[in-house]
Amino acid sequence: MSALLKLEKIHCSYDHREVVHDVSLHANKGDIICLLGPSGCGKSTILGAIAGFHPLDKGEILINRQSVSRPGYTLPPEKRRLGMVFQDYALFPHLNVGTNVGFGLRHMSAQEKDQRVQDMLQLVGLTDMTKRFPHELSGGQQQRIALARALAPQPDILLMDEPFSNLDVDMRERLSSEVRDILKQHGTTAVLVTHDQHEAFALGDRVGVMHEGKVLQWDTPYELYHEPNCRFVANFIGQGTFLQGTVLDPETIETEIGIYQGNRAYHWQQGSAVDVLLRPDDIIHDPKSGLRAEVVQKAFKGAEILYTLRLASGNRLLSLFPSHADYAIGDQVGIKVEANHLVAFAQN
Ligand code: ADP
Ligand code: MG
Repeated sequence: MSALLKLEKIHCSYDHREVVHDVSLHANKGDIICLLGPSGCGKSTILGAIAGFHPLDKGEILINRQSVSRPGYTLPPEKRRLGMVFQDYALFPHLNVGTNVGFGLRHMSAQEKDQRVQDMLQLVGLTDMTKRFPHELSGGQQQRIALARALAPQPDILLMDEPFSNLDVDMRERLSSEVRDILKQHGTTAVLVTHDQHEAFALGDRVGVMHEGKVLQWDTPYELYHEPNCRFVANFIGQGTFLQGTVLDPETIETEIGIYQGNRAYHWQQGSAVDVLLRPDDIIHDPKSGLRAEVVQKAFKGAEILYTLRLASGNRLLSLFPSHADYAIGDQVGIKVEANHLVAFAQN
């Protein structure tokens, strides 16, 4: 399948300062892709380049196999068939919901327009709100209206820049999975930009983790979590701790809590010191295990408890226990490692 959206080795700058370096990624029709990274890493600049607001220094952007951006040429935004949703909703305050959603629908009869507005409101689950004004809606409802408005002209690609940042945590989580359902149901191809890992994982089929203008890893949420390709990604995504290990052979590393065999071969010399990444779900409760650790901290998460454990060496681990395995600070608990993935990095 040829990609609907393709970025090929793009570079962007402001006043000769390059802020996006050599970024490549693609989305097939119906994919939701996501750029995830800390503030200032270049996410909005890339979105601006896709939208046609920002020219390229090098590289090329293709939409439907048509070259839309390359050095010296930028197809104007209004010719790209894109929809956009931003953090601040940007609904017209003096227009009611129906008029807001219908705003971008030119060249349509009044009847067709009405029908499309109703379809879009149904898609986002707000059919009875047509006559309301933006200030009469909650933040989450406003953002769903902004989504309906962006989707109404049936864009080829929907661009979303931190669309949930202004919402409280509960609403953000609920809305991000709702929006994923809406986009999937509608078959929309979308690019989401966010600094929030939970949002990226809740929405993205594929996520690019960015740092200082580069995409460090372009992968599924599962791969990013379990197979981070560098320390930055390992630290940025999810929780975990590092334990020092010694390489026994390309697939085997020894640590103070055992010898682990992985599913990938490393190219280090036997005997080299490395850091092994252990996720909380890699360390499991095993009352019968001879490997013991002391509880130093606990955080109740509902179905699970996240324990911080201290090994005899003083090194710490994070571990998720089912929540009925309720221990107190200072208790000794039995643990074992159950990791399908062996992720390790050379020591600096
Ligand atoms: P993000 O969206 O990931 O927070 P941006 O793409 O907005 O990052 O910014 C990337 C870099 O470009 C930052 O260093 C930022 O300060 C700089 N930058 C963004 N917009 C402008 C601008 N209009 N003029 C100059 N520098 C800018
Ligand atoms: Mg931004």
